[in-house]
Amino acid sequence: MKKDIVAKGAIVQKDRQTYAITPHIPAGIVSVEQLRNIAAVAEKYRATIKVTSAQRLTIIGLEEEQLDAAWAELGQQMGHAIGKCVRSVKICPGTTYCKRGQQDSMSVGLQLDERYHGLPTPWKCKLAVSGCPNDCAEVCIKDLGLIGTTKGWNVMIGGNGGAAARLAVPLATALTTTEALALVDKIMRWYQHSGYVGRLGRLISKIGVEQFMADVDKVA
Ligand code: SF4
Repeated sequence: MKKDIVAKGAIVQKDRQTYAITPHIPAGIVSVEQLRNIAAVAEKYRATIKVTSAQRLTIIGLEEEQLDAAWAELGQQMGHAIGKCVRSVKICPGTTYCKRGQQDSMSVGLQLDERYHGLPTPWKCKLAVSGCPNDCAEVCIKDLGLIGTTKGWNVMIGGNGGAAARLAVPLATALTTTEALALVDKIMRWYQHSGYVGRLGRLISKIGVEQFMADVDKVA
């Protein structure tokens, strides 16, 4: 029976024989060349392409001995779909494309992606950025994220869409982009070095937002 191969970004499938791999597609914006490469690899290895909840395309059904060649043929960075790290940054179209956008979620989200995607963390961690309170990027069920408003950014923490579902709560409101990015940075530094092991939401449920921020201020 085979297992996930984290170093190759390969997740073993239901048959316990074949794997899925997922190239990194920041903000879900995929180039024509990237699409062609993904389609070519799927066609060559008779694999299935599936759109994921993290705005990526996963290629399902590869044999273990095909993984290295498939990555080489893709020529793309690995999406960190498994392991204890920042798995993904989900980003809505925001003011770049959406008529309801109130903040530039694409620009800010891509900065978060650049800084944190794949960063080792004590537990799996998902980020998101939405350009308005409609929250199409689902910050409400992500560990940490930003929601744009007419007054600036709300920083939200502690969401989880898993078996123990939990809605994110506000940590700070009406921040400038610089302030919001600085707060996210502070929290991520704390998360990496505090010694706490677990999802952020579990800690927020236990100690509350005020104590959490006091702890973050001590360490970060
Ligand atoms: S969250 Fe707001 S800005 Fe983003 S896609 Fe949805 S409606 Fe548009």
